[in-house]
Amino acid sequence: MRHIPYSRQSISDADIAAVSAVLRSDFLTQGEEVPHFEAAFAAAHQVAHAVAVSNATVALHLACIALGVGPGTRVWTTPISFVASANCARHCGAEVDFVDIDPQTRNLSVSALRAKLEVAEREGRLPCVLIPVDFAGLPADLAEMRTLADRYGFAILADASHATGASYRGAPVASAWADATVFSFHAVKVITTAEGGLIATQNAALADQLRLLRSHGITRDAAQMSEAPEGDWVYEQIELGFNARMTELQAALGRSQLSRLRSQQARRVRLADRYDALLASLPLRLPARQADRSSAWHLYAVEIVPGADVPTRAAVFAALRAAQIGVNVHYIPIHTQPYYRALGFERGDFPHAERYYANALSLPLYPELGDADQDRVVEVLASALNRVAVPA
Ligand SMILES: *Cc1c(COP(=O)(O)O)cnc(C)c1O
Repeated sequence: MRHIPYSRQSISDADIAAVSAVLRSDFLTQGEEVPHFEAAFAAAHQVAHAVAVSNATVALHLACIALGVGPGTRVWTTPISFVASANCARHCGAEVDFVDIDPQTRNLSVSALRAKLEVAEREGRLPCVLIPVDFAGLPADLAEMRTLADRYGFAILADASHATGASYRGAPVASAWADATVFSFHAVKVITTAEGGLIATQNAALADQLRLLRSHGITRDAAQMSEAPEGDWVYEQIELGFNARMTELQAALGRSQLSRLRSQQARRVRLADRYDALLASLPLRLPARQADRSSAWHLYAVEIVPGADVPTRAAVFAALRAAQIGVNVHYIPIHTQPYYRALGFERGDFPHAERYYANALSLPLYPELGDADQDRVVEVLASALNRVAVPA
């Protein structure tokens, strides 16, 4: 029986040719490919500036620094995300807190945020940065968050690691609302550079700052230097930065992948629509749809609705894995990880997140998943649930 993973990269001959061309070129790093990829990504996402880096974890870290996160500040995020969404603030010495999810969308809840901000204002403990996550590719409620950000004076760092190509209120995610938006190009994500990440922003000063942080805090721009350079060899380190650069190979792959984003996206949408129809009769809560936004469909996550004759999530998970179907679970709530419990968080702190997690299961979804493979996933899932699927 063929193994079906939960996600898988899609690599074309054009991708391979693009990477091979870089290998034969003069520059493996710091050439023209990274700026080309950045320009193409910025155009596709209707955003002024794009800064490519080695991965999204580092993108979140650099963006936190550039947005003023440091010791004595607070960063809030959602518990239903990958740990990197919270760790970036810890790397800056900030305090992390969480806002519970909306059980319908599984994204950070605006009403929970509003209530938490009212308390935080009274206590003088407002956040410096909010990190909403477009869970599974469904854009977060950024317009409402923008209103709250302006009222309470925090910045929005959107973690759109799942949402390359998603749209919100008629425009691509990243084009507005957030101060900075981070994307991931890890191999399982919507487009890939193997490892890779990018920060998109409308703010030119922020983009300049991120470019400095990406490369040791070094500038070769005479306008930024403390004194007129004696010659072309002169660079100045004006900040403490990192080596967070993306390679030319990655950028060439990214640009090639980006050129296929629309067709790949169409396939993901079709697979999600098929799952919706094929799974309709099963005891599952399916992903939410919202009229003013479209998901990038990085993940198709269902919740098993508990019932007398419904097996546990663990049993269903095991049955699918035994049938060579690579289901997964996204995510263990971040605040329940031992590292975060050691900081004082406890199970029970964010009940909607924990309730979602208890029954969550991510089904295979990637452009090269065939209809017949998807039918097999549905059949095995139905049988693991002691049901027969009756398509809607
Ligand atoms: C994948 C992911 C990251 C980290 O991305 P990398 O590129 O692997 O560092 C961060 N946040 C979320 C929500 C992710 O899914």
